Amino acid sequence: MIFSSTLLENAVNEFAKLPGIGKKTALRLVLHLLKKNTDDVKDFSEAILKMREEINFCTRCYNISDKQLCNICADRARRQQMICVVESIRDVIAIESTQQYNGLYHILGGVISPLDGIGPDQLQIDSLIKRVDEEKVEELIFALSPNIQGDTTIFYISKKLKAKAIRITTIARGIAFGGELEYADEMTLARSISNRMPVENYVGNKF
Ligand SMILES: [Zn+2]
Repeated sequence: MIFSSTLLENAVNEFAKLPGIGKKTALRLVLHLLKKNTDDVKDFSEAILKMREEINFCTRCYNISDKQLCNICADRARRQQMICVVESIRDVIAIESTQQYNGLYHILGGVISPLDGIGPDQLQIDSLIKRVDEEKVEELIFALSPNIQGDTTIFYISKKLKAKAIRITTIARGIAFGGELEYADEMTLARSISNRMPVENYVGNKF
């Protein structure tokens, strides 16, 4: 792509660094912004900068938050003894959209994947175990993507919690094995949560 302006080229290159955005799409977005007035573009860039500079992570569940505790953790109407374990913030958004879940979350920040060099220490697993002890958690629901890495993570954590009196379940597999949780439609995801099953039945078949 040849540009008549270095400013234009720089802007296109920055957009093209975003996931899923190729050069052509980047150019389309930049040309769209060029049509806007300067104040609109200023609001746009300030929102992004402010988000990056000021955003926090909830100290309890590691969700993105404006305060020390996220809105979900701070909501006393939610079931405090039920934790849904997910890989990323996108999964929280997907599950919240179903409006079928009224407990809390714990965001691991990934799943165990030795091939990618991700071990348990890089994930929020110790903090989860600590929460189970301190918050008198009654049920842990694993809502991880149904693939080898997700299953390894479920197996690892359930083994660590073996001695504790806690119900450990995993969402039902309405979601195809190898599929991504965040792409499941709301109905499938909602049904998967209500049809969750004990992890020992699940991992027992596999390990
Ligand atoms: Zn939280």
